[in-house]
Amino acid sequence: MFKKILVAADGSGHSDKAVEIAGDLAVKYGADLTIVHAIGHGEISEEFLKMAEAEHLIEAGADESLTPASLYGDVASATKATRGYGISYRVHEQVGERIISDATDIAKRSGAVPVETMILDGDPAKSILDTAKEKDADLIVIGTRGLGSLKGLLMGSVSQKVTQLCECSCITVK
Ligand code: ATP
Ligand code: MG
Repeated sequence: MFKKILVAADGSGHSDKAVEIAGDLAVKYGADLTIVHAIGHGEISEEFLKMAEAEHLIEAGADESLTPASLYGDVASATKATRGYGISYRVHEQVGERIISDATDIAKRSGAVPVETMILDGDPAKSILDTAKEKDADLIVIGTRGLGSLKGLLMGSVSQKVTQLCECSCITVK
């Protein structure tokens, strides 16, 4: 049924479940499993900051020259979003590497060994869609919600865009 499964991971609870299901389906169908995480350039969520703090990747006022505003343009929202921290691209990358390695462990617990893990750069939905096409994926597995804080919405913006625009089947996981 499925030969190439791509799962999108952002470190959230929904994403962890998506990885578990993707791993399980990969085993059942003997499909290749690819795990991707995209490093976005938008607002940084509280949960992302918690992960970066837990990894000791950021400290308050760590790098004065790398202000969020200089990285993200919008002074007010960036400063609020990062609580005044300067989040360098390297920090994004390191958190991304941790997300990928945690997701790989989850997939392995489902019995699947990912054939590929990828850190993508740019708009998450677009890079997930482009990669799915590039890799000829016949199934995308994605969480309905992620790390974002707008819990009132039924679906996150990434899952909404991916499910609407993907050219293959897509499972959204709650
Ligand atoms: P929003 O980001 O719109 O505020 P949200 O964070 O609740 O809302 P999404 O970002 O759409 O919701 O997350 C839904 C799912 O999309 C996640 O469970 C995960 O599977 C995937 N996803 C989200 N962001 C990324 C990312 N940067 N890289 C890979 N997958 C992602
Ligand atoms: Mg999100």
